[in-house]
Amino acid sequence: MNDQVTLSQKQHADTKISTVTKITVAHGDGIGPEIMDATLRILHASGARLETEEIEIGEKVYLSGNTSGIGNQAWASLRNTRVFLKAPITTPQGGGYKSLNVTARKVLGLYANVRPCVSYHPFVHTKHPVMDVVIIRENEEDLYAGIEHQQTDEVVQCLKLISRPGTEKIVRYAFEYARAYGRRKVTCFTKDNIMKMTDGIFHKIFDEIGKEYPEIGKEHWIVDIGAAKLAETPEVFDVIVMPNLYGDILSDVAAQITGSVGLAGSANIGAGFAMFEAIHGSAPDIAGMNKANPSGLILAAVQMLVYIGQADVAEKIHNAWLRTIEDGVHTGDVYNEAVSMERVGTQEFANAVIVRLGLKPQQLPAVSYMNGSKSFDIKPRDIAPAVRELVGADIFLCFKEKDPEVLASLLKDINVSGMQLQMITNRGTKVWPNGFPETYCTDHWRCRFIRTPQQGVSNQAVIDLMQKIHNRRLEVIKTEHLYLMDGKPAFSAGQGQ
Ligand code: NAD
Repeated sequence: MNDQVTLSQKQHADTKISTVTKITVAHGDGIGPEIMDATLRILHASGARLETEEIEIGEKVYLSGNTSGIGNQAWASLRNTRVFLKAPITTPQGGGYKSLNVTARKVLGLYANVRPCVSYHPFVHTKHPVMDVVIIRENEEDLYAGIEHQQTDEVVQCLKLISRPGTEKIVRYAFEYARAYGRRKVTCFTKDNIMKMTDGIFHKIFDEIGKEYPEIGKEHWIVDIGAAKLAETPEVFDVIVMPNLYGDILSDVAAQITGSVGLAGSANIGAGFAMFEAIHGSAPDIAGMNKANPSGLILAAVQMLVYIGQADVAEKIHNAWLRTIEDGVHTGDVYNEAVSMERVGTQEFANAVIVRLGLKPQQLPAVSYMNGSKSFDIKPRDIAPAVRELVGADIFLCFKEKDPEVLASLLKDINVSGMQLQMITNRGTKVWPNGFPETYCTDHWRCRFIRTPQQGVSNQAVIDLMQKIHNRRLEVIKTEHLYLMDGKPAFSAGQGQ
């Protein structure tokens, strides 16, 4: 279990045992202040060599009119300390508030989210006694780009962005992690049978980079059946690397099936910057009741101590925590009459850990962090740029008449630099030519104009095309350029095309 830590960056690797490290701390919202108090009390009692700088982020900041939930002073503190211990925060529902968690991860370049999910059988009730899975979630991209638009009365879109360098970083991180911590296998989950280009590149890069790690097993699962297998037989998994959204969902599932979502901590790692947090949210339903399990944040703090070079203290806290769990001192979320000895609140749980500092578990394996933290030098590969050739454009229109033949009759005769109407789709499904009357259509249409045979056209030609469509009193709501990359189409076909 000594690999339940994340990886120190270079500047921390040489930190001397006696060095006091400055960290930024945010108490957060909901159960945040309670679990942070519990965690800080344990850190202080354990002799962690820390100087803390407190910042205010989250609900209060949002409601003061700052839609990002974090002010300039807080950013300055983070830039100064470069280590952030963060309690969960509440993102107010509705208009304009961006998730601060996502913003912090992206602005600070924290590309790897490392989430160990471990069973503590027989001391914490779980259907999965043999479970020790590390989920490595891509942290900056995917649907979390947060680029959403309402384009027509009926249709809203969210852009899914997957980049080659972003994917290379996370996939390589997963393999380096597996190699450094003696893990036997890395599994990749994607949905590339449907999203052939976005999830497709993630899978492809996984296969490419995996070849550089011959000693490590590799496999790929389509995320739906992979998730089902994870929930049923987690013991067959080891390290799992995933795009952002799948990683978010499945790390909650994985933590919950170990016994409680309250048990898992996580590390968000970037180049020379790291943020540590529980994987759960601010749990407003139990806030202020002294009921929350502080374990997720405590284990995140353990990851942080390893990262900053205080492996001795990390080990002390983690072993005391394991002993507490083993002694049956449990918060309500994991309390089970058959195995638990005492049901405690958040602060009493922290007290129980403090009392056990210096003790080791007797049945669960004790952790040892004395090999220290590992740092990886992760850089995306240099790839020669492709030859890009513009050959057409998908012109998206808002059109209220729900008949593709009517729309086609308004566009069919247009020819700009050889670009002509090839197909019309509605929500991705081809409805012209030769559509089915059964296909339901909204007011949001994609009209593909392409030069056949496929040959280069200019950007000006696409602008002229839009102008022609506009002159016919049709409402263009967006365009996507169609490229050939190294001679191959760099766009998907319509469903049914
Ligand atoms: P949640 O994780 O806060 O709660 C889900 C369920 O798990 C609730 O029943 C809750 O009581 C329980 N739970 C969570 N943590 C627990 C703990 N430590 N001990 C015992 N029980 C625990 O998820 P949610 O209700 O969907 O979200 C609430 C708020 O948290 C939202 O505003 C959301 O945006 C925010 N959130 C923040 C973060 C973060 O700060 N990293 C992450 C996820 C959600």
